[in-house]
Parts: sequence; C-alpha cells; structure tokens
Amino acid sequence: MENEIKNITFSNGVTIPQLGLGVFKMKDEKELSEAIRVALEAGYRHFDTAMIYENEAIVGQALKESSIPREEIFLTSKVWNYDHGYEETKAAFQASLDRLGTDYLDLYLIHWASANYIETWKAMEELYNAGKIKAIGVSNFQIHHLEDLMSHTEIIPMINQIETHPAFPQDELRAFMAQHAIIHEAWGPLGQGKNDLLTQSVLLELAQKYGKTPAQIVLRWHIERGIVVIPKSVTPSRIRENRDIFDFSLSKEDMDKIATLNTGERYSGNPDDQEFLTRTSIRPN
Ligand code: NAD
Repeated sequence: MENEIKNITFSNGVTIPQLGLGVFKMKDEKELSEAIRVALEAGYRHFDTAMIYENEAIVGQALKESSIPREEIFLTSKVWNYDHGYEETKAAFQASLDRLGTDYLDLYLIHWASANYIETWKAMEELYNAGKIKAIGVSNFQIHHLEDLMSHTEIIPMINQIETHPAFPQDELRAFMAQHAIIHEAWGPLGQGKNDLLTQSVLLELAQKYGKTPAQIVLRWHIERGIVVIPKSVTPSRIRENRDIFDFSLSKEDMDKIATLNTGERYSGNPDDQEFLTRTSIRPN
C-alpha cells in the first residue's frame, strides 16, 4: 500500500496536507531547525506555528535553508488574543510574515475566540481577498462562537483547529462543522503525552494487531475521521513514526473500540474560560 500523505480540500478548493508538524513549545533554535529538517526529509510539507510560540523566525529560516520551493510548503500561523481588532490583526499578520520570511500564508487562524474576534475576522477576510492568505480559519471556536461569527461576517471559516483525541473526540462540534463544510483540525492529537492515553490497553492491543505503535493507531484514527493532524515531536524517530500512517487503515470495528476511550473530558484549555481569554488579551508592555 502506498504511504503518501493525503490532502484535504477546503471549501474554496485549496488543499492542506492531512499531516503536519506542530511546533508548540519548540523554541530552541538548534532543536527546532533539526526537527524541521528531519520532517522535510520524511516528507512533511505542512508546519503549524503561531505568533505566541515565539518561533516563527526559526521556522522561516529552517524552511529557507531546505531550498524546498515556498509553494510546496503549507504554512500556518495564528493571530494571538492581544492582537485582535481590524488594524491590530493586519499589523500582526505582517509581523508574522516578516518573521517567517514569506509574503503569504497558506492558512491564518484566530487562535482563540477572545474579545473582538469579528473585527479580527474582517481583517482576515480582506487579506484573504487580496491573496495574502490562501485559506482562513479559526481555532478553539465552540458552536456558539461559530454561529456568532457566521452571522456577522461574509466568509465561513474553512477550518477549526480544536483539541481532539480519542478521550475527547469533539463529536457534537464536529457534526456542526461538517454541516458548514468547516474542516476539522486536531491540536493535541496524541493527548499531549498526558493521562497515559497512549498506554490504554485498547491502543496497545490494536498496535499489536496492526504492527504499528499506539501513537500511529491514534493518528490513523484521526485520519480515518477526515481530521487534519499536527502531532508535535522533537525526536527524529517519532517525527518519522508519526508520518508513517498512510499505509494502513483501521476497520470499522476497531474504530468503534477506540471510541470507547471517550471520557468527554478535555486535557487542556477550555475555549469558554473567560478568565484565560481576558488575561491573555492584555498586551504586555
Ligand atoms: P500532541 O498531542 O501532538 O503531543 C505531543 C507530545 O506527544 C510530545 O511532546 C511527545 O511527548 C508525545 N509524542 C509525540 N510523538 C509521539 C510518539 N510517536 N510516541 C509517543 N509519544 C509521542 O500535542 P501538542 O503539541 O500540544 O499539539 C500538536 C500541535 O498542535 C502543537 O505543536 C501546536 O502546533 C498545535 N496546538 C495548537 C493549540 C491551539 O490552541 N490552537 C494548542 C495546543 C497545540
């Protein structure tokens, strides 16, 4: 069976590789540059960063050094909570481009639904219409945020990047997104290494059955559900392992077994946590 990374198509026809490398918390220049080099060598072409990760310059430099043409790379960044607002977003976008050393983004996301996201979205619509962003989307948006945004703006978000893993599969939000052709992207696809997710007996048994690792079983579960995944690792063997998920598929029965891991509990931040949204909307001096 072939092992090519599949593409998913947005509502506007633009495609996104279904697997990318997440680079949250990766700030060490040597380590991150090496991770990107290994990922590119393994066939990754999609990288997910954000202003708040404070590593856009390193990502941009590492991609440049690879000599892979810009148009073969899919690059995502995100506008942070204290940059919301029309003018602020335009300035934040340009600053991200400058740090990344590029003149367009493949995908730009509203990182969290903090105050003023409608004005932020209007700036993103304009940048999209001007061709500076190939696709625009959101992250950490609940159904009520999406409904509010869609009732006040022109373009429906093309993607929503949300915490998703077998313990928190997001079935309700996912069904709403499907109705509106909003692609589902998972952050924390491996459960962020928390709560012993990867040592659950269901996953160990399936790993044995398919001759894969528990991480590969979980990533393949996402792929079967049509979800875009951006697992993070700085370990070369894991970066390669996480890429090696397109040469097998899980049976319906085994997908159902993984569904039993649903606890309905998040492992990380709640998009409706107003204290977090307010605190992180204050620009540091
Ligand atoms: P993740 O689920 O990708 O987990 C990463 C951790 O899993 C690693 O630190 C490592 O400990 C472990 N791991 C990785 N590969 C493994 C393997 N093959 N076997 C065993 N363990 C393995 O969590 P994440 O980094 O939080 O999420 C992925 C990406 O999503 C981030 O890097 C970032 O780009 C994005 N993200 C976005 C948001 C958001 O608010 N939009 C929030 C968190 C993360």
